[in-house]
Amino acid sequence: MQPKIAFVGTGGTIASIGTDQFDLLDYTATGERLDSVGVIERTGLQGAIATILPVNFRQIDSTAITFTDWADLVDLCHELCADPELQGIVIGHGTASLEETAWILSLVLDIGIPVIVTGSMRPLNGISSDANANLAAAIRVAVARAGEPGVFVVLNDEIHAPRSVTKAHTLRLGAFQSPWLGPLGYVDGPDVNAPHLVGPSRPASFGRDLLRRLPRVDIVYSYVGADGHAIRSFVSGGSKGIVSAGFGPGMATPEETAALGEAFSQGVVVVQSARTGAGQVVDSKHHRSLGIIAGSDLNPQKARILLALCLARGDSPSEIEAVFQAI
Ligand code: ASP
Repeated sequence: MQPKIAFVGTGGTIASIGTDQFDLLDYTATGERLDSVGVIERTGLQGAIATILPVNFRQIDSTAITFTDWADLVDLCHELCADPELQGIVIGHGTASLEETAWILSLVLDIGIPVIVTGSMRPLNGISSDANANLAAAIRVAVARAGEPGVFVVLNDEIHAPRSVTKAHTLRLGAFQSPWLGPLGYVDGPDVNAPHLVGPSRPASFGRDLLRRLPRVDIVYSYVGADGHAIRSFVSGGSKGIVSAGFGPGMATPEETAALGEAFSQGVVVVQSARTGAGQVVDSKHHRSLGIIAGSDLNPQKARILLALCLARGDSPSEIEAVFQAI
């Protein structure tokens, strides 16, 4: 008997139909996105590697994903696990925010089967679309990991950890990379070759109830001449946390840094990240004196998710600092 794998479609390019096979860039204009049943039918993958249970969820662009979508998706994954025969879940997702969804799933899901997040860079009906291949590879990884927990991202024959993976190009098929670290493994034809993929990519650390009360947390991007205006606007707009996407070592401009210190004194938790896309942020004495927490090696969008979860849990600034140090 074949393993049973659920396919949860959320929309994105992997579910999109362009006007014709050469419509590889502006295909969202058609607005045509298939649901999970439609995607599986069109790929012809039913029964090829696994028995697939298509589960309809959303048919949206991943730029439109909200905290509520995350909460519903996590609940859905938990509900699917009520089926004792289910051995894995594959999620089809738009690539725009795929890394953020995979990251939050890895922090919150508490289930005993693997969850593989995939997408595609070309629409389902596009010429040389990667949609079929990515979906097939994701199903293969789910089957290979059957019965074991852990969230992984699979595109372009590569298996990545949610923590390290990022969309590093707007268009190339190999857009998903784990900068400086590389993939955890590969899908080579029918084989899943992943010697480094042992155990869950991250243990669940946060209760899923927190997803329904995530506070507002914003990101401020540093550039030459940036002042404190955006930071003060976020604070007056109700931010409970701010992530600074600073320059290389993990530093904002002097004016931004002063505004971040002010934000902290007004009760806003501030995390320093960097716009480089990789590397540990320096835990600077000056930042410490202002209450600014070093954001580990998480990119700003992932630091924001971790900070929002900590704040929803009611962690104090020193507890939040400990979470960022331990992650
Ligand atoms: N616009 C698409 C999205 O839903 C892009 C993609 O799926 O690759 O994120």
